[in-house]
Amino acid sequence: MMKSLLGARYGRWLGHCVVLALFAAHTAGADPIAGAPRLYVSDERGGNVVIVDPQSASVIARIPVGKRPRGIQVSPDHKRVYVALSGSPMGGPNVDESKLPPPDRRYDGIGVVDLEAQKLVNTYQSGADPETFALSRDGKILYVSNEDTGMLSAVDLVKGVVASTVAVGSEPEGVAVSADEQRVYVTCETSNSVYVVDAPHMKVLAQRPEVQAVDLCARPPSTKPLQVAVTFDDGYKDNLYTAAPILLKFQIPFTVFVTTSFIRGGSPTYLSASELRELGSLPGVNIGSHGATHLPLARCDDATLWQELYESRCYLEDVIGKAVKAIAYPHGSVNRRVRDAARFHRPCVHGA
Ligand SMILES: [Zn+2]
Repeated sequence: MMKSLLGARYGRWLGHCVVLALFAAHTAGADPIAGAPRLYVSDERGGNVVIVDPQSASVIARIPVGKRPRGIQVSPDHKRVYVALSGSPMGGPNVDESKLPPPDRRYDGIGVVDLEAQKLVNTYQSGADPETFALSRDGKILYVSNEDTGMLSAVDLVKGVVASTVAVGSEPEGVAVSADEQRVYVTCETSNSVYVVDAPHMKVLAQRPEVQAVDLCARPPSTKPLQVAVTFDDGYKDNLYTAAPILLKFQIPFTVFVTTSFIRGGSPTYLSASELRELGSLPGVNIGSHGATHLPLARCDDATLWQELYESRCYLEDVIGKAVKAIAYPHGSVNRRVRDAARFHRPCVHGA
């Protein structure tokens, strides 16, 4: 059984698909309680949320949550875990679905696990057969794929009700919300399509949208609902020898964000200065900054921040002989001070 998730990092217009090949298990992020990382796994057959300590590779707790837990997410404040629960019988490959018992909708819902108490404390309405879901950034709306009924439901977590629904393709599974929260993307398994839904109005904008690969800095005007910019970080050698030939063949522009100390270090893993020059001279290839030494910029003092931005830009411009117009912040570490400093250096600043 393959479950798919559609992820989108539109901070840098980077769209990508992640396929999870976990049988009967979904996982969700790290838990900051006491600073220890935690892995949360939905155990579809056992009806549990399993808490794993990844450092010792041991199970810390098994929390009974109900029938068929699948999609799982940690709340933005990391105090709860949400988990999709379904009263539909388990199907899958080689199962004659006509012989399965009817679904019991009493068990459908989004379970809420309190992480401190380590127990299920609530179950929200979810619409029928919730498979996975995505949370709005403020944690107030949960967009749920309803697999059996081909719907997307928006659950208002403040009121605890399904606020609105919209019909999408058949067997909707992965759900993702765009960074500006205006769009919800839903992968639909048996209709082989991605639905793009206007989030505030819950209306389908496009089905199987045409994807346009764009230059990160050019941002051409487009009516196409999905624009993607391909980017690479750090300055690996395979950007030149593996990625570039394929992307050039399909005329897909891309940007490589380079950490200059990696280039100067002489490591066989990273591009040399002459390879970087060659990469930067290819049509449709932009070279951007990824700092001088890959430090998290938000944690740097002003002098170091300045040095990281200035040194990397000057070195790159010297090597490629062109203006460097973009930056990707190492470790995604950014705040207003970093953004202002980067803008001062160059008008065109991207990155996440
Ligand atoms: Zn990096």
